[in-house]
Amino acid sequence: MHGGDRGGAIPRERGIADIGLAVGSNESARRVLLFDIDGTLVRSLPGRGYRREVRAALEATFGTAGRIDEVRFDGNTDLSILREALEAEGIPFSEIRLKLADWEQTFVGLTRRALAEAPVFACCPGTERLLEMLSADPRFDLSVLTGNLELMAGVKLESVGFDRHFRLRGAYGSDHEDRNELPAIAIERISGQTGRQIVASDCVIIGDTPRDIEAARANGMKCVAVATGPHALESLGQYSPDVLVQDLCDGEALIEALLG
Ligand SMILES: [Mg+2]
Repeated sequence: MHGGDRGGAIPRERGIADIGLAVGSNESARRVLLFDIDGTLVRSLPGRGYRREVRAALEATFGTAGRIDEVRFDGNTDLSILREALEAEGIPFSEIRLKLADWEQTFVGLTRRALAEAPVFACCPGTERLLEMLSADPRFDLSVLTGNLELMAGVKLESVGFDRHFRLRGAYGSDHEDRNELPAIAIERISGQTGRQIVASDCVIIGDTPRDIEAARANGMKCVAVATGPHALESLGQYSPDVLVQDLCDGEALIEALLG
């Protein structure tokens, strides 16, 4: 359902050559940056991939892992991943929702156990410096827009020391199955926390999959696409993000682009 290079509603009229480092036009607006986590800020270490924990938590919670091995994770919300894995095995979505918190607790517990032995995640190139710069810059608010359930999002960020940059709650896979529904949730939540009425044009989604670009488009937000996940630069370029970069290493250029 979600994830992967499956085309979709995103027009392809622009090529990579047309995509410059330019976002927005209102210089005075404070920008709300909504970071995806997997493939954008954090990656699973080879051989330490946490699919094993996903599977074990499914078996413990639902009695089966269903078709989890066939499901693509990138750009997908956890709820959607669980539906794809389990519904075909006869487990209704209502039951998945009902047991979601149990699954999450088990999954987080198993992942914490793995983290206690050795690192499971690493930060993506350029992210440490970029987040330091953005956190210190009063023109930006940082939050997340991720398919991870909220507890797991926290575990991943904490495991690489990024939790201190993300004090504002954003939107998570635990909020909705459909990633395109997450930006509106993030706006409402961040408006409540900051006391400012955030609007979509203040927001920029930073993500590594066509799904991130689509979620931005569907909600009138700008998007920075970064090729540190499973999708190559050329592939992401077909979806016409506002900004397209190989990685997040050039913090100065990115900040300029984010401000427009
Ligand atoms: Mg991602």
